[in-house]
Amino acid sequence: MDFNLPEDLRLMQAAIKKYVDQVLEPAAVQIEEEDAVPEDVVEGLREMGLFGMSIPEEYGGLGLDTLGECVVYEEISRANASVRTRFSTNNGIGSLGILYDGTPDQREQFLPPIACGEKTIAFALTEPDAGSDASAIRTSAVRDGDDFILNGRKMFITNGAIAELVTVLAVTDPQKKARGGITAFVIEKGTPGFSVGKLEKKMGLKGSGTAELIFEDCRVPVNSIIGGEAMIGKGFRTAMRVLDKGRLTLAAASVGMARRALELAVLYAKQRVQFGKPIGEFQLIQGMLAQMATEILAGQSMVYRVAWQKDQGNPVRKEAAMCKLFCSEMLGRVADTSLQVHGGMGYMKEYAIERIYRDARVTRIYEGTSEIQKLVIARELLNG
Ligand SMILES: Cc1cc2nc3c(=O)[nH]c(=O)nc-3n(C[C@H](O)[C@H](O)[C@H](O)COP(=O)(O)OP(=O)(O)OC[C@H]3O[C@@H](n4cnc5c(N)ncnc54)[C@H](O)[C@@H]3O)c2cc1C
Repeated sequence: MDFNLPEDLRLMQAAIKKYVDQVLEPAAVQIEEEDAVPEDVVEGLREMGLFGMSIPEEYGGLGLDTLGECVVYEEISRANASVRTRFSTNNGIGSLGILYDGTPDQREQFLPPIACGEKTIAFALTEPDAGSDASAIRTSAVRDGDDFILNGRKMFITNGAIAELVTVLAVTDPQKKARGGITAFVIEKGTPGFSVGKLEKKMGLKGSGTAELIFEDCRVPVNSIIGGEAMIGKGFRTAMRVLDKGRLTLAAASVGMARRALELAVLYAKQRVQFGKPIGEFQLIQGMLAQMATEILAGQSMVYRVAWQKDQGNPVRKEAAMCKLFCSEMLGRVADTSLQVHGGMGYMKEYAIERIYRDARVTRIYEGTSEIQKLVIARELLNG
C-alpha cells in the first residue's frame, strides 16, 4: 500500500498552502467583517483553476480526481470555511448533476464557464418544509407544451444570490414524488419569474451567502431539464448521487478546519504562561492536544481512503456518510477543545478560534445532518 500522495498533487498542495498562508489567512478578518469574499481573492481562486478543479479537462477544468479534490478542500479550509463554499458549488453540488446526467450540449454550454469561474452555479433542493426529508419538496414544474412552469420557494441556498446558474429540483409528478416524480433543471439568472428572496444572517460562515430563491410562474424550455426529456422524473436520483460526493468533500473540509484549530491550540499552549510556565507543559493541556491530533489523523485517514476507493470506481455511499459523520463531529470536538486551550481569549473575536468554533457548527447540519448520515449508514448495513 502506498500512502504517498502523487507528485503533482503534492505540488498543488504546497502551492495552496502558500496561498492560504500569504493571502487567505490575512484576508480572514476582512471576510468576516464584510461578510463577503473580496473580488481579488475570488480572482486568485480562478487563477489557480479551483472553480473547475474536478471538472474534466475537456471542459476547461483541472480534472482532479476525488482524492485531489479532498486534498485541496482540506488545505483551503485551514484558512477559511467560507472561501471553500465560494467555489465548491461549482465543483460539487451545483455542477455535478450536469456532469453526471447532462446532455452533451448541456455539458458543452454550461461546464466551461463554470470551470473557469466566469459563472457561479448553486444547488437548490431544500425548501421550508423539506430539509432532511428532501423527497417532500413542493416546488412544482408543470408541463405546458415545450416548456415547464415552475412555482415554489427554495431556502438556505449557498451562493444563491450571486449565482448565474442554479440546479433546481422540482416535482413534475406529485403522485410519484421521489420515485420518478422529481426532475432536475438548470435555470439561468434573469429568467422571468425567478428571483432571489431573503438573504440569511448566519451564526458563522461569514462571507458565504445563503439565500432564498423564488420561482413564480417561471417558464423554462424542456431543454432546461438536466439530461433532457429522458431524465424527466429522474432528478432525485441525480441529487442523491451528487450529495454522496459532497459528503466526502465536506468531510475533507472538516479535517482542514480541525487541523487549523489544533495548530492554533499548539501555538497558544507554547506562548501562554501560567503558574510560571507555558500551559503546554501541563499534562491536562498535553492530553487535549494529543486527543485532538489523534482524532484528526483518524478523520484524515478515512477521507483519503474513501476518496481513493471512489476513484477506483467503487460505490462509497455508506463510507462517504461515515466520513461526513465522523469528521464533522470530530471537528466539533476539536474546535471546542482548542477554544478551551485558549481560555478566555478563545472567546474573543480577535482570536481565530472564535470564528472556527462558529464556522464548524454547520458541518454537522448541511449536506445531511449527523442523524441523516446515521440513517444512510444503517440503511446500507441492513439492506446491503
Ligand atoms: C449554511 C447552510 C447552507 C446550506 N446550503 C444549501 C444549498 O446550497 N442547497 C440546498 O439545497 N440546501 C442547503 N442547505 C440546507 C441543508 O442541507 C439543510 O439545512 C439540512 O439538510 C437539514 O435540513 P433542515 O434544516 O430542514 O433540518 P430538519 O430536517 O428540520 O431537521 C431538524 C432536526 O431533526 C433531525 N431529523 C430530521 N429527520 C430525522 C429522522 N428521520 N431521524 C432522526 N432525526 C431526524 C435532524 O437531524 C435535525 O437534528 C444549507 C443549510 C445551511 C445551514
